[in-house]
Order: sequence, then C-alpha cells, then structure tokens
Amino acid sequence: MFVLGRWWGIRVGVDSSWPLIFALLCLAFTQSFGERHEDWSMALRWTVGVMAGLVFFASVLLHELGHSLTARAVGLPVVAITLFLFGGVAQLAEEPTRPRDAFMIAVAGPAVSLFLGLCFLLVWLLVPGELWAGTLSAGCLQLGVLNLLMAGFNAVPGFPLDGGHVLRAVLWGATGDFQRATRIAAGVGAVFARVLIVTGLALVVFTGWFALGAWHVLIGWFLLRAARTTSTQTALRATLEGLRVEDMMCAELVTAEGYTSVADAVEGPLAEGPRSSVFVVEGGELIGVLGPAEIEAVPAGRRPFAALRSAMTPRSRMVGVSGRDKVLDALLLMGELGVDELCVFADRAPIGEIRRGMVQAATRAGGAPSAPSP
Ligand SMILES: [Zn+2]
Repeated sequence: MFVLGRWWGIRVGVDSSWPLIFALLCLAFTQSFGERHEDWSMALRWTVGVMAGLVFFASVLLHELGHSLTARAVGLPVVAITLFLFGGVAQLAEEPTRPRDAFMIAVAGPAVSLFLGLCFLLVWLLVPGELWAGTLSAGCLQLGVLNLLMAGFNAVPGFPLDGGHVLRAVLWGATGDFQRATRIAAGVGAVFARVLIVTGLALVVFTGWFALGAWHVLIGWFLLRAARTTSTQTALRATLEGLRVEDMMCAELVTAEGYTSVADAVEGPLAEGPRSSVFVVEGGELIGVLGPAEIEAVPAGRRPFAALRSAMTPRSRMVGVSGRDKVLDALLLMGELGVDELCVFADRAPIGEIRRGMVQAATRAGGAPSAPSP
C-alpha cells in the first residue's frame, strides 16, 4: 500500500493494485474519447483521458470521504481510507453500535457518488458542446455516467457493497439481531457475486466480449471472497463473544534461554510448530520476547552469533494481554503486531500464553478477524 497523505487525521492510501487499474482506466477513457471524437489528436485524447482518470480517482476518494466524515460525525473515529481495485475501503476504529449510525455511514458514500454524477451531467447539459473542442462536455458526460454507475453498483444490497451494509442496518434495526442481519446481507452478496461470474462467463462464451466478460468474473470473484470473509468473521465473532483469554490460554510459556543464538531459535522451536515468537528466560525468569520483527532486525549472517538476550524486546517493553481481556481483542492485537502468540500477564507476572492456533482449533474457523469490512 502507498500512503498519499493525511487529511483530517485520516490516512489515505492506495492499494498496490491501484497504479495498474489507474493506467487501464486512463487507457479506457482515451479509447472511448477516440471513438467519439475522431477529430481529436492522439495527444489530446491522452490528455483528456488522463485528466478524466484523475477526476474519477478524486470522485472515488470523495465517496470514501462521505463514509468517513459521516462516521466521524456520529462519533466513530476513522483510521484510514484505502483505494483499491474498484472503489475503496474506509477503515473505522470501531464498528457502529447503533443500526441508525451504520445506516447513515453506508448511505453517505453512494449519496456522494449520486450527487457528483448529477453535477457532472448538469455541467454537460449547460456547457456549450464546442467549448475547448468539446473536451469539457465529453469529460463531464463520461464522469457523470461513471459516478451514477458507481452509485448504482454500490446500491446492490449484498455484502461487501454499501447496499449490503444498508440492508444489514435495516434488518438489524428491525429485528435487533446483528449476527442474523449480517448473515443475510452476506448471503445476498454471495448470490450477486455468483450472478456476475456466470454473466461474465456467458459473455465470453456466447458473445466473445472477452474483456467485458473477464471484468465481470474478476469483480464477481472479488465480491464472493469478501462476502465469505464477512460470514466467517461474523461466525468467529459470535463464537468468541464473551470469551476471555484465561478461558483459552495455555498455562505454560514455550521458552528459550537467553544465551541461545537467534539462528538456533529460528531453526529450533520456531521451525517446529505454528509459532512466530519465542519467550526468552534466564534463571527461570522471563526476560523478553523474540518475534518476527526482532528476527527481521538481525541480518541473516549475524544470526548464528547473536544471542536472544541481545536481539529480543526486553520484558519492560513487551506487549501482552491480561487473563481478563477478551479473546477477540487478543486476536486483533496479534494481527496488529504480526505475531501468532502473546504472553498473558497477571499483575505483571507471566502466567501463560495464548496462541492464534489454539483459538482457531477451538472455533474451527478459518481466520482471525482483521480490519472491519468495507
Ligand atoms: Zn462506499
């Protein structure tokens, strides 16, 4: 991900897929202008194409800002906006706790797109067609239609699209059952994704429109994956709700002595099991932890000579959890730190560890909850 900057305290970035998509978008704009305005020179087609691409990019950003600033207005801090394949994701620090807030946040994005689409079409209607060789009116027509398409596509009532969030908020408000509302919205999303994939395949097979068909399949596949992740996360949340770290922890730490070399730790205890860090002890006392970040900091050639004692994060700076913490929070913390286990403390004394694998085995679910859904 590339970070573009911070606006109103929100980190705005683009996914690594974006430069490619942006280039394809500019190419598509340029080609479509070329078809309609054969009198335009190649340079003019590209100039207008790239400018339209940039304005569309800004439109997508405004759509996400619509979600983000609404979330802020109802008191939910926004961490980041990431623009990716098509559209973007506004990542909230917490999920809305009231159906009404969830509804407002979800509706705000498509509302911005609808508004932008109508504005572009209004300019297209009002600006004389011959102004600047018709570049302004051609650009506004394209951007108006695209923004309306974006509002329409996002209004489909299935996860992970905005319409899915609206549907969930409405069902949640009507029944009071958040889990069930999420399952239904994810189910509709999965059906819509399958329809897109089948339509795409049919386009390729029966009409030979390969690019259009492939685009349908790609978007459908992407949505299907996102809808499935939502279902899994909801199930995981439902299972783990109310569970504390002490219910699932292992009352023993897997340890290595401080004099062990980093290389021996990597090839020994870390190579065997589903672990990413090792707790370091000396004379039976916990003195620190060595995880992926600490290992990364030691060049490969130095690992046979570097002792854990010197490479570890000392105990005074170790991040751990308490037995009374929620299992869900522990999983989120592991995700943030990029580790698969955490030390459990009681009054600053280590009493055991909790591992991602133990939680997964206990819930028989596929993955840990990561960032909130789009
Ligand atoms: Zn949206």
